[in-house]
Amino acid sequence: MTSFVTHLEGAIDGANLTADRVQTLHKDRPLWVRYDLDAVGKALTKEILRDRPLTMWRYRELLPVPFEQEPVSLGEGQTPLLHCARLANRYGLEHLWIKDESHLPTGSFKSRGLAMAITMAQHFGIRRVALPTAGNAGGAAAAYAARAGMQAYVFMPEDTPVVNIYECHLAGAKTFLVNGLITDCGRIVREGKQRLDWFDLSTLKEPYRIEGKKTMGLELAEQFDWKLPDVILYPTGGGTGLIGMWKAFLELRTLGWLLGESTGSPPKLPRMVSVQSTGCAPIATAFAAESRFAEPFPNAATVASGIRVPAEVGDFMILDAVRQSHGTALAVEESRIREWMRQVASTEGIAICPETAACMGALEQLSQSGWIRPDERVVVFNTGAAQKYVEALQCELPRLDIRHPLDWDWISEA
Ligand SMILES: *Cc1c(COP(=O)(O)O)cnc(C)c1O
Repeated sequence: MTSFVTHLEGAIDGANLTADRVQTLHKDRPLWVRYDLDAVGKALTKEILRDRPLTMWRYRELLPVPFEQEPVSLGEGQTPLLHCARLANRYGLEHLWIKDESHLPTGSFKSRGLAMAITMAQHFGIRRVALPTAGNAGGAAAAYAARAGMQAYVFMPEDTPVVNIYECHLAGAKTFLVNGLITDCGRIVREGKQRLDWFDLSTLKEPYRIEGKKTMGLELAEQFDWKLPDVILYPTGGGTGLIGMWKAFLELRTLGWLLGESTGSPPKLPRMVSVQSTGCAPIATAFAAESRFAEPFPNAATVASGIRVPAEVGDFMILDAVRQSHGTALAVEESRIREWMRQVASTEGIAICPETAACMGALEQLSQSGWIRPDERVVVFNTGAAQKYVEALQCELPRLDIRHPLDWDWISEA
């Protein structure tokens, strides 16, 4: 045996597909990777885990990579779980953490998924990959493809944050700017598959990116000593982050590793909150309409480029996870995103991305309404580094003229 994967499963109908070859979609919908969790439980214990290096690969029995395969890695270390007492206080909460994924290579959590997808692509002998991206996925794909010696083609909307454009070019990806949205870029990748013989790495169109994102949930559980928080707020674009994390929790529950609030009580899973902006809110809209599928969101526009995804192939997987967890989905006011970025950075020193800033808006709303109770344990994911969004960071600052005497009163009051 070279991994604990048993098969792939059609998310829409439960169909059983073999995992020993390249698979993409089934009935135009994504696949789950399934494991022999009984066997995993016999091979892996919490004690064994304790002695392993602090990287996402420490959970290898719960990952699809064959044991003899060397992962394509840029050193994906465990990300900090930062307790935020000052910020908690602002929202009338007692226990608030930010899990800071900006520490990952390429500055966003996209590295987890693309390290896994590229590793599996290498395993299957793929030499050329392509993907549409709202920004960070392109940067991560370009970097991991370079690391694997693969050729990458990246298609991004022309108004993607410039740092994302530069990082793709820098890593040697063939990078194209498209006068449309990520969905238009997706069509180009689909059409080019036959002509240019590349493998489509689009969100959820191959089964392994979710497994990389799943390590966020495994890591969070371990950092909390297997007692999960009450509420998790996560910005939702294509949805792999939220879907992957929820899959992690279900697998850990099946393994019997999760602990309840007190000894003997059954483990509680977190309520998952899917956060979007009023500028692009297909999931929040579908949730409010009690629909299992989302309609394409018209005129998608938000500074939080990572969640500018007007249509998701995994819409029902996101909505199922939110509902199963007794969570919620909501959209927050686009015009306040910069304000929330500054609030967190100036209160806690954590430079959150605009996508996570939307989560702070959700936290404000849900704590005020009482949906989140003051004593609940809440985790917000910082999915990327603010420093990658220079457009959203623009500011006007006072200037000093060194040719004249300095006005110290003015400086002290500025
Ligand atoms: C991609 C991205 C998201 C959205 O994540 P999904 O898993 O695609 O829903 C959120 N924040 C940032 C910074 C991203 O790059």
